[in-house]
Amino acid sequence: MKQRVVIVGAGGLGSPAILALASDRERSFRLIDDDRVELSNLQRQILHRTSDLGRPKVDSAQRIAEPDRVERVAQRLEAANARELLGGASLILDGSDNFPTRFLVNDVALTLGIPYVFCGVLRYQIQLLSVRPGLSACYRCLFVEPPPPELAERCSDAGVLGALVGIAAGLQVREAEELLNGKRPRYENRLLIVDVLQGRQRTVDVRRRPDCEACAAASAMGAAASAMGGA
Ligand SMILES: [Zn+2]
Repeated sequence: MKQRVVIVGAGGLGSPAILALASDRERSFRLIDDDRVELSNLQRQILHRTSDLGRPKVDSAQRIAEPDRVERVAQRLEAANARELLGGASLILDGSDNFPTRFLVNDVALTLGIPYVFCGVLRYQIQLLSVRPGLSACYRCLFVEPPPPELAERCSDAGVLGALVGIAAGLQVREAEELLNGKRPRYENRLLIVDVLQGRQRTVDVRRRPDCEACAAASAMGAAASAMGGA
């Protein structure tokens, strides 16, 4: 396999993403999700069917690609396993639904030097940012640290417009294709914000913060790699 894509979350974003990206048979996948399929998931998490209810979400991926192309990991991504589960990827797609996981994906992707695409959807809004470690601003340059749990809204509480995740996943897949083809992604160093209720789309410039700890880790890795290459 030429490319290995790690997808965090087999929900509203991960479902359409793996369906779209798996059409290239030169790609293999690792799909990470510890949830089981519920009835309320089905209107937007298009990987799953009613026959999957109660089963691990990652198991639904069996029907879309040859079994040896999809590694199914029914575990929660945590600090203790993140380096192992995200390691070896050509690209990471973050389709998680909570802030701690987003920051964890960011920090570990940068430490490992793996490009990734963040996408978040809440209510009527999409946010999207592509990150190339050491080259572009990261999620932590933008938000610094997770909001306190009492202020952090989740899809399960605040709700999400079901069809909107399809649009968001399409945008995320497009960024992924650019990165996998060695091109500069469209939403690098600028956060895309789409609000379908207001009918607005805008971008916010994001700069690398000199004191960003995640970017410092990426730079240190790059320096170490250069030193090894020169030896
Ligand atoms: Zn950063």
